Amino acid sequence: MSQSSPLQWARRSAFVNYAVAGLSVVAALVAALLLEPHMHSSPFVSLSLCAIMFGAWFGGLGPGLLATALSVAAFTYYFVLQTGSSEAVPTDLPRVVLLAVAALFVVWLNVARRVAEGALRRSEAYLADAQRLSHTGSFGWKIASGDIVWSKETYRIFGVDETVKPTLDLILQRVHPDDREFVLHEIDRAALGEPDYEYEHRLLMPDGAIKHLTVRTHLAKYESGEAELVGALMDVTATREAQEALHTAQAELARVTRVTALGQMSASIAHEVNQPLASIATTAAAASRWLNREVPEVDEARACVNHIVEEADRAAELIRSVRDLARRADPELIPLDINELIGEAVALVKPEALRHWVTVQLQLASGLPLVRGDRVQLQQVIINLAINGVQAMSTVTDRARVLTIRTEQPESDQMLVAVQDAGIGTEPEGLDRLFSAFYTTKPDGMGMGLSICRSIIEAHGGRVWASRNIGSGMTFQFTVSAYR
Ligand code: ADP
Repeated sequence: MSQSSPLQWARRSAFVNYAVAGLSVVAALVAALLLEPHMHSSPFVSLSLCAIMFGAWFGGLGPGLLATALSVAAFTYYFVLQTGSSEAVPTDLPRVVLLAVAALFVVWLNVARRVAEGALRRSEAYLADAQRLSHTGSFGWKIASGDIVWSKETYRIFGVDETVKPTLDLILQRVHPDDREFVLHEIDRAALGEPDYEYEHRLLMPDGAIKHLTVRTHLAKYESGEAELVGALMDVTATREAQEALHTAQAELARVTRVTALGQMSASIAHEVNQPLASIATTAAAASRWLNREVPEVDEARACVNHIVEEADRAAELIRSVRDLARRADPELIPLDINELIGEAVALVKPEALRHWVTVQLQLASGLPLVRGDRVQLQQVIINLAINGVQAMSTVTDRARVLTIRTEQPESDQMLVAVQDAGIGTEPEGLDRLFSAFYTTKPDGMGMGLSICRSIIEAHGGRVWASRNIGSGMTFQFTVSAYR
């Protein structure tokens, strides 16, 4: 209902309401007095009922009762007392009572209608507010006639003026070009009789902005046999943008922790790269000596050159792994050999393990199916767990410092990786706390490693957990799904 509707205006001024009711009765009386000489019976009763109805419709209960009282008084004075002798009064009394009863009935009907209208208006206002606040619009789509009805919020979401009649063409104009075929397919699902379903798509607004919508539809079939697609569409742009920002922040954080881990390992890695370089230099000198002989020893020199190539490959491979880990890359889920992946991760961790006198043992199950995952991310998980294990053993002196990495296939479609150390361990309670962001017991720790491992593994559809060993140390395990 618009701002200047008569009902709202009338509510603002009670005086106007009563004045209108009074004037209506006066108008009815004047008309009746003017018309009466030309008619067989008095038109006042019908005219005053009209006046009462108008007064009650316009002003509500009070003005309606005022109009009733004025009508009954005018009727009694002008049409009962003025017209007949005093004996006529008792016979005319029922007419007066009848007018009063009819008038009260009319007032009551109007007041009831106003109350119902008020409740309806309030509920419509609540609904509109709820739609606006939750960014949820509604729609109805009569399948046979193609008639589409939108709520105010749906108009706002589509950025269309409320005077425009919604059509399928208009909807498709707004749908992002890449999603049009998909949306048409989803609309077809209703035509094929699917009763309830939900889908998401994007809108491309005229200013180039993109909106993300979640649409829920229900196919309603009425007794008349008519079918209507009714539904709600929610503008989830803010949520999607927040999710994307969170995802970017998480990816960046994961990269930072990778780089931090690499920083921790850099001395060992540099040492590991130096070894093949030193070996290359010595072997090259030897090759040169073999060739400088009076009779050059070509076979020996060739063996030296082959060795140089192998050493150069080893160094290059290590540097490639370091570069992959430091690089910023979007996750890419591909089929991976989990054992091979562990081998690559261990090549990076081994120098750090050796520096702390830790032996790395691999117990890898053979014949495992390929897993579905992102190479760099899964390597990051294994490196984080392994480095934590190595660090947990760095102060151990009374037992062998052994880090064991195991693979198993507990279920046909799942692989398990376990990283076990013999380190200082942790309290049995609060094992889950280790995975909380910023939880650390190390003076220079960030407390992000395990929290990132958990988000990576969960994004892969797996699970990661920690347990205390029966002897000393801890075991961290995670699952990852087979590639299907
Ligand atoms: P950070 O290594 O920076 O502390 P993490 O999230 O990797 O961050 O680890 C959080 C905490 O979990 C560590 O500070 C340590 O207290 C505990 N923790 C992780 N791995 C082990 C382990 N293998 N043995 C004992 N405690 C561990």
